[in-house]
Amino acid sequence: MFSELIQKEMISPNYGSRDGERITKITIHHAAGVINAEPLARIFENTRRNASCNYAIGNDGVIIGVVPEEMRSFCSTSRWNDSRAITIEVGNSTGAPKWEIGEKAMKSLILLCADICRRYCIVPYFNGTTDASMTFHCFYTQTECPGPYIKNHIKEIVARINNELCLIPTEPAEPPKEDSSYLIKVTCDDLNIRSGPGTKFKKTGHITDHGVYTIVETSGNWGKLKSGAGWICLKYTKGVK
Ligand SMILES: [Zn+2]
Repeated sequence: MFSELIQKEMISPNYGSRDGERITKITIHHAAGVINAEPLARIFENTRRNASCNYAIGNDGVIIGVVPEEMRSFCSTSRWNDSRAITIEVGNSTGAPKWEIGEKAMKSLILLCADICRRYCIVPYFNGTTDASMTFHCFYTQTECPGPYIKNHIKEIVARINNELCLIPTEPAEPPKEDSSYLIKVTCDDLNIRSGPGTKFKKTGHITDHGVYTIVETSGNWGKLKSGAGWICLKYTKGVK
């Protein structure tokens, strides 16, 4: 099968079995050529080259299905990688030495990668090793692939895929503050409530009921009432268990 994002299929005869491996990776290659999708896919129709990819994306942004996802493409010079990866060849927009990828191809690449990640529950990340979900051809053999542009932009590419997947990392939530409130019982007949923790703060009320109150904050001998009415001196209270 292919992603629904393809414009057409141009199936290559060059593929094998995935050896029962699950799809857990994506390997982005560059075509090392300023080339549109059709001529790129046509290269893999040649049996003598014994090369293929699961998808070809042209500099024109067109996506062509070349080797169905359930099959292993001959793309990364590594049977280990290719049996686990969806491989994508991307046509460049400029030649040597920059081998850039144009925005049309990049957009298609991001959408295709996000679609693959969604369907196979792959979390896209790159750490420069074969362990990561995003791997490079150059991990496995002496090659410049995927070229300096993709290598230098892989973090941005991964971020854009994550963005497409709504997997933008969020700030960790603040740990909930420990509840340090406690109950007290007023022991005097007329206890002043003040606007702050001290006698220098102005009086905002009285407690005359010998009642039980919740203190949410303590400062010296003073406790802040949960009601928000103000602070009381704790010397005229006792703890309630
Ligand atoms: Zn490659």
